[in-house]
Amino acid sequence: MAPRFQAPRGTRDLLPADLGRWQWAEAVARDVLERYGFREIRTPLFEDFELFARTSGESSDVVQKEMYRFQDLGDRDLALRPEFTAGVMRAYLEHGLGGRARVHRLWSMGPVFRYGRPQKGRYRQFSQINCELVGSPAPGADVEMITLFVDLYEAWGFRDLTVLVNSVGQPASRRSYGEALRTWLAPVREKLSADSQQRLVANPLRVLDTKDAGDLALFGELGEMPRMLDAIDAADRAHWEAVRAGLEAAGIRYEVDHGLVRGLDYYTRTAFEVHDRALGAQIALGGGGRYDGLVAELGGPPTPGVGFAIGLDRAMLVLEERGAAVPAPAAGVYVAAMESTRAAAVALVRALRRRFPVEFDVEARGFGAQMKAAGKSGARALVIMGEEEWTRGEVVVKDLAAGTQETVARDRLEETLAARLAQEPPDRSAVDERRAGETETS
Ligand code: AMP
Repeated sequence: MAPRFQAPRGTRDLLPADLGRWQWAEAVARDVLERYGFREIRTPLFEDFELFARTSGESSDVVQKEMYRFQDLGDRDLALRPEFTAGVMRAYLEHGLGGRARVHRLWSMGPVFRYGRPQKGRYRQFSQINCELVGSPAPGADVEMITLFVDLYEAWGFRDLTVLVNSVGQPASRRSYGEALRTWLAPVREKLSADSQQRLVANPLRVLDTKDAGDLALFGELGEMPRMLDAIDAADRAHWEAVRAGLEAAGIRYEVDHGLVRGLDYYTRTAFEVHDRALGAQIALGGGGRYDGLVAELGGPPTPGVGFAIGLDRAMLVLEERGAAVPAPAAGVYVAAMESTRAAAVALVRALRRRFPVEFDVEARGFGAQMKAAGKSGARALVIMGEEEWTRGEVVVKDLAAGTQETVARDRLEETLAARLAQEPPDRSAVDERRAGETETS
């Protein structure tokens, strides 16, 4: 019988078997972020709808079609966050962070929500790692962020990533570029998808974000696409050149992508994205850019910033498809007790769990069942609490990987386990040979 309730469309459960990879990736990311001097910030999962409408742009897909917008019981107009930057910058202003230090490096991790059409790698609830460097207009800040972006993927084992970069200039140069795009698209205007026709009127740059195969084929029929880089002003061009030189100095492999315009209105100058072949050219693994106009848009003093978001679900999908190995959880301890030592075992297990991962049979099954469970558990060490040994203040410790055992005094148990658990498991074939030898002589 099908269960009565299922996870809502576009959402999924991450089961313990999946979470090994996620937790490993999160821990690796935290390490990289710390080494780059980033500090975590946690903002609410929902904010005023207006905050997202202002920052993402009224004409963006996110605002128009993808927002989980709701009214709470106090009639407030709220929305689940569709991205992090707006909330982080709201918090930056609300807590006057700008007055406390000139440059802030902030990161967040957690779920975001977009009402899109679910497909592989596209969910309605998904997770991002989001990073912002706030307070510096320097090209060096863009370079540092792109370097961090690439280093996060590399720490997860991605190789040969190529970052796509472009400059989206300033609102004024974007407007003139928009006109150039309209002229370029005019011959095929009627044949474009309904979405793209609407975008052509409201914000022509967004036509370049289309995923519609028909639209993409039409672009191919036209002559060379006008380039945003030809429309940007001298200051933006100097910034762009400095970013490129910085990326080369840092050894970052990049390509200029003239069609990269990013979906949100608040980007200025540098925009970047990374894709992976496993997900297809149209699906980005992550992206970001500079947003010098965003804080002023929220009513704050002009404050430059550059940031990015990495889609964790997609990164995990690629790693899983590649069969990337996740380090096994720490090999632990199994404690097996007799009927007569069970009460003492409960206390011993509690004490050992202050230091080691310990498994213990809560069902008080027979000794044989516990030994079988110990073998299956993957534990490295088995502590056997036999009645006689325990009366003498001792236990037997079996190294399940090496196949050896020793009798250990209770007060030396922790140090013995620590030493066992820290030891490399012996070469399997050597153990098997020794076992075969034992059988022959016995
Ligand atoms: P964006 O803010 O749209 O640039 O998104 C940043 C990253 O989040 C993307 O590059 C994706 O990796 C990820 N992402 C965006 N939308 C989705 C989605 N619907 N499902 C899963 N991941 C997504």
